[in-house]
Amino acid sequence: MPELPEVETVRRGLTPAMEGSLLVRAELRRPDLRFPFPADFASLVSGQRIVSLGRRAKYLLIDLEDGNVIIAHLGMSGSFRVEDGVASEAPGDFHHPRGKSEKHDHVIFHLEGVNGPARVIYNDPRRFGFMDLARRDVLANHAFFRELGEEPTGNVLDAAYLAARFAGKAQPLKSALLDQKNIAGLGNIYVCEALWRSGLSPLRAAGTLVDAKGKPKAALVLLTEAIRTVIADAIAAGGSSLRDHIQTDGTLGYFQHSFSVYDREGEPCRTPGCGGTVARVVQAGRSTFYCPKCQK
Ligand SMILES: [Zn+2]
Repeated sequence: MPELPEVETVRRGLTPAMEGSLLVRAELRRPDLRFPFPADFASLVSGQRIVSLGRRAKYLLIDLEDGNVIIAHLGMSGSFRVEDGVASEAPGDFHHPRGKSEKHDHVIFHLEGVNGPARVIYNDPRRFGFMDLARRDVLANHAFFRELGEEPTGNVLDAAYLAARFAGKAQPLKSALLDQKNIAGLGNIYVCEALWRSGLSPLRAAGTLVDAKGKPKAALVLLTEAIRTVIADAIAAGGSSLRDHIQTDGTLGYFQHSFSVYDREGEPCRTPGCGGTVARVVQAGRSTFYCPKCQK
C-alpha cells in the first residue's frame, strides 16, 4: 500500500504533465473501481482545464477550473503513468513489483498540455483504489476529510498540538500516532521509523508524553520533529528516484525505501552503541517493529 511519501511523489511526478493542461476527455474503461464512479463523472470532468494538483493525507486532489475536484486514492495497487508519445515517463524502483498489464488500465485522462498531447493512465490490478468528485468550496466537510488531523508535512503539526490530543490517553503511542484524526496520512511504516528515531516505545501510553499541565514533555517535542523529518526524508528519497528514472519505463510513485527499523525483525538495531535486536509485535492487527533496548 502506498504511504504518504509515495502519494506525494506521485503528485509531484504528475504535476508537470497535468497542471495547466486541458483535460480533453476522461475515458473510463469500467463502471467502478472500489466504488462506482460518480454519475456523469466522465462528462463532468471532460473539457475542463486542470488548475492544480494537490494532496490531503493519501488522497490526490485534481482541481478543475469549474470548481470541481477529482479525488483519487491509489488503494493497494493503484498507480499512474504518463505517456506523451515520446517516452513513457514512469519513475521509481519498485518496493513490490507492479503489474503493467494494460488490461488493468482503468482510467485514461487524455490531455492537451503546453507540450502537446499526453495521456495520464490509472492502472490498478486489485481495484482497491477509487475516484470521486466534489466541489472545492465544501471539500473540507467531505466525509473523507472532515475528521482528518493535521498533515505531518506542514508547520501546524507541533508538540503542543499532539499534547492536546494525547493528554490523559492510556492508548498505546503507536495506535495514537496511527489515528488519522490525530495525524493525517501517517502510516505504519513511518510511525515505526519515527518512534525508533526518537527512542520511544510503541507500547507506552500516549498520555505519558504530556505533563500535568497538558504541556508536551521533551520526548514529545523530539517525536514530533522525528515524524516531520522521517516523512520529509522519504519524500526527498522519492524525489531523487523520480529524477533518476525520468526516462525509464515503470510507474510513478513506488520507490525503494531504506528503513531503519521497519521490516528488520531479528536484525541489529542501528542506533549507534545500542547493540539491541529489532523485535516485532502485533498491535491492533498491524506489525510494529522496534528495539526493546533503546526505545523506552
Ligand atoms: Zn536499539
